[in-house]
Amino acid sequence: MRDQYQREIDYVRISVTDRCNFRCRYCMPREGVKFADRSEIMTCEEILRFCRAVSGIGIHKVKITGGEPLVRRGVCDLIREIRRIPGIESVTLTTNGMLLGEYLPALEDAGLTGINVSLDTLNTVKFRRITGTDGFSEVWKGICKAVKTSIPVKINCIPMREWNEDELADMAFLAKQFPVMVRFIEMMPMGKGRDYTGIPQEEVKDILRKRFGKMAAAKGRFGNGPAVYYELSDFQGKVGFISAVSHEFCGACNRIRLTADGILKPCLNYAGRVNLRQEMRSGITDQELRYLVKEAIYWKPRRHGFGDEAEEEIKEKRRMAGIGG
Ligand code: SAM
Ligand code: SF4
Repeated sequence: MRDQYQREIDYVRISVTDRCNFRCRYCMPREGVKFADRSEIMTCEEILRFCRAVSGIGIHKVKITGGEPLVRRGVCDLIREIRRIPGIESVTLTTNGMLLGEYLPALEDAGLTGINVSLDTLNTVKFRRITGTDGFSEVWKGICKAVKTSIPVKINCIPMREWNEDELADMAFLAKQFPVMVRFIEMMPMGKGRDYTGIPQEEVKDILRKRFGKMAAAKGRFGNGPAVYYELSDFQGKVGFISAVSHEFCGACNRIRLTADGILKPCLNYAGRVNLRQEMRSGITDQELRYLVKEAIYWKPRRHGFGDEAEEEIKEKRRMAGIGG
């Protein structure tokens, strides 16, 4: 369906847990993380009910995210069930990759249509400093296994001043080495992300041109969203950029989000107003559920407004892992 600004909304990102086996420094505090009580997390049945409702109003694409979605028990069966819903054309997963190798056969069997692995460095020491874990070799094994399956793989990297600026060309090289899309995602000023300085898209492109030569804008769409892709000579995959702040794409935004505790969020940067878990548990009908989603879509904010001080009081205050980045 369309929102009040005539944007076609056909994509939902669902966070299935606020828990995570990593502590990425720009996403989660290292100590004292307060997770939601299990009773506050949407059950798989509730998530499926939501998916059935939204498939009836034009949502065709689902992303499973978190927290770390692979730490949620039953996530492969959930994916399988969502894939069976008429009208749902794709179910993709965003993961830190730590458990990917282990779950890959089950994910393939469930009919997963795409995997995004978040990876900011190829250096084991930096990996530990960024994620708070020693998981690099497990993540790498997961990626190597995933690229051998029929599921398309994307690697998402956040360029950060002083953290990985010397590795950006090596990250892009993965798209030469493997048939994967490597995307550079701009750090957003949300939660702990505010403490880190991102590297502008143009600067990353300069680094890549110096190492690999000409970058030609790729034609066509290669996913659910706003990434802009480039082709590089002799690369198997493409290199993409998602720059929500410096190259705002709100005018073409096609998505809504459901948090792990059931809050429907029409925009990443605004706190959602309706808690569908509570509504479902208080006994609303499927028709009422659809109505609540349609109303939230209609009133989706025109733009994220990162940096607009005036709207600070209605903005999202939660950390990314609770929202489903
Ligand atoms: N745990 C999974 C993972 O890391 O892929 C899924 C959830 S994680 C919140 C989803 C994505 O959000 C990750 O790629 C992470 O790098 C990104 N992210 C977290 N905080 C961010 C921020 N402030 N700005 C931009 N991206 C952020
Ligand atoms: Fe966990 Fe993903 Fe956040 Fe890292 S970015 S702490 S892996 S949810």
